[in-house]
Amino acid sequence: MNASAEQWVKVFNGESKPTGEGGRNSNNMRPIVLVCEHASNFVPPNFNGLGLSEKQLQSHIAWDPGALDTAKLMVSKLDATLVASQVSRLIYDCNRPPHSSTAIPLSSEQQSIPGNSSITPAEKEQRVETYYRPFETALTQCIDSLVSPLVVTIHSFTPVYLGKKRDVEIGVLYDTDQRFADAFMRQAGDQPRFNIQRNQPYAPTDGVTHTLKHHALSRGLLNVMLEIRNDLISTLEQQQKMAAYLANLIDLSLLENT
Ligand SMILES: [Zn+2]
Repeated sequence: MNASAEQWVKVFNGESKPTGEGGRNSNNMRPIVLVCEHASNFVPPNFNGLGLSEKQLQSHIAWDPGALDTAKLMVSKLDATLVASQVSRLIYDCNRPPHSSTAIPLSSEQQSIPGNSSITPAEKEQRVETYYRPFETALTQCIDSLVSPLVVTIHSFTPVYLGKKRDVEIGVLYDTDQRFADAFMRQAGDQPRFNIQRNQPYAPTDGVTHTLKHHALSRGLLNVMLEIRNDLISTLEQQQKMAAYLANLIDLSLLENT
């Protein structure tokens, strides 16, 4: 990656510091890769906020609030590595392949995205090259530097979607390989602390398993996508509790699989 590409993706290690800033080399990390495709709501200034208000850019349509902070806390607990996008999913959704019609969304939860409405094929290609390819490359390099790592993508979702309240608190999502999800559900037990459901509030048919398929299933690696309801990770205290809970379940599930 060149220097300008690196600014759109950040890699954190077990000290939750970006690599190269006093953090440890990935060779010392446990084989656990966390991924946060929707970590940031940053819209580069040249996009003029995509025609959206500051309030809209702060909302869940632009990113997954709380996901990055929770994932960073999990990185510390698990001695893992985290790859996080540094740009809003409204600029490019790093959990979508370039050919997907929602990689550069025209709308999100009934809100049209003016800055994306008349995008040309050349502009699309430029966004793929500028924002998606560096993310894809960083994640590939991270996975390839470890021996058979577990891949866990960390997301958050809004408690109310299209006016409907969601009861699920943690979603455990998987595509065609459910080995790790099964272990995770077993470890969560019959009476888990949270309302945990399989493939909720999204499912593979919603196109949300791109990272899992592209980076984990293609290599036969254990994988899962964790969706956390964002009202449960809106404060530091909540994030610490959630990170400890999820990291413990990941540890226990790994023990079951090794
Ligand atoms: Zn997400």
